[in-house]
Amino acid sequence: MAVEMINNVHYSTAILLGSIHARENITSDLLCKMIDENLFENITNFNISFIVMVNPDGVELSKNGLKSCPNFERKRLVEINNYNSDFSMWKANGRGVDLNNNFDADFKKFINSRSFSPGGFAGEFAESEIETKAILNYVKSIKPFFTISYHSKGEEIYYNYFQSDNLLKRDKIIAEKFEKSTGYLIKNVENFSCGGFKDYCVQTLKIPALTIEVGSDELSHPIGEEFLEEIYEKHKDIANDLDFAYNIYTNYK
Ligand SMILES: [Zn+2]
Repeated sequence: MAVEMINNVHYSTAILLGSIHARENITSDLLCKMIDENLFENITNFNISFIVMVNPDGVELSKNGLKSCPNFERKRLVEINNYNSDFSMWKANGRGVDLNNNFDADFKKFINSRSFSPGGFAGEFAESEIETKAILNYVKSIKPFFTISYHSKGEEIYYNYFQSDNLLKRDKIIAEKFEKSTGYLIKNVENFSCGGFKDYCVQTLKIPALTIEVGSDELSHPIGEEFLEEIYEKHKDIANDLDFAYNIYTNYK
């Protein structure tokens, strides 16, 4: 579900996404709480669009197990899940494709899994999944200036993906603002990433894009709602951070 705020003007929208990975549903709770707390009410010069749950089928499977699926799907899903009836650690979508490997950004440069899997299978081809297509259709129509993909866990920020030096400097300035406000740490591991939404945004759209891993690494997957408040506390400056990102994006030469 995408919620449009203010007007729809090209290059003046930031997109915030949650639950690309199924077991990381705390990120949807975080986005909903940001909206509920009216954190964005003073932003008037750009739009914010929330795709609070990119992967609803996967989230259902992680939260409620096989009973969330139609009967004809259950046998196949149990096989994919290594005959385990506990689906709480599931990351993929309802077909067993990892949506954050399915984007067209050096697709399958690194292969974690060769077939349908609870996590790490990139799909038969780039953009094979309806969720990926839906995101891309939306992104192509909106033309965002900035995106944030929320994942869990580890309290880390990723922003680089083989940008030119000039864009790398721009994007680093923005990432450092988020690092300061959240207390999270910037990590630079672009050499081991491919097919992610952030990767696509940086590589194809040439816009700043962050992956933010919320929640302490000491917490277990899936992170329970009882930890939402302490995670939310670290993201209360999100409106200022977005405003900063917009100013850097629009003024950077
Ligand atoms: Zn993730």
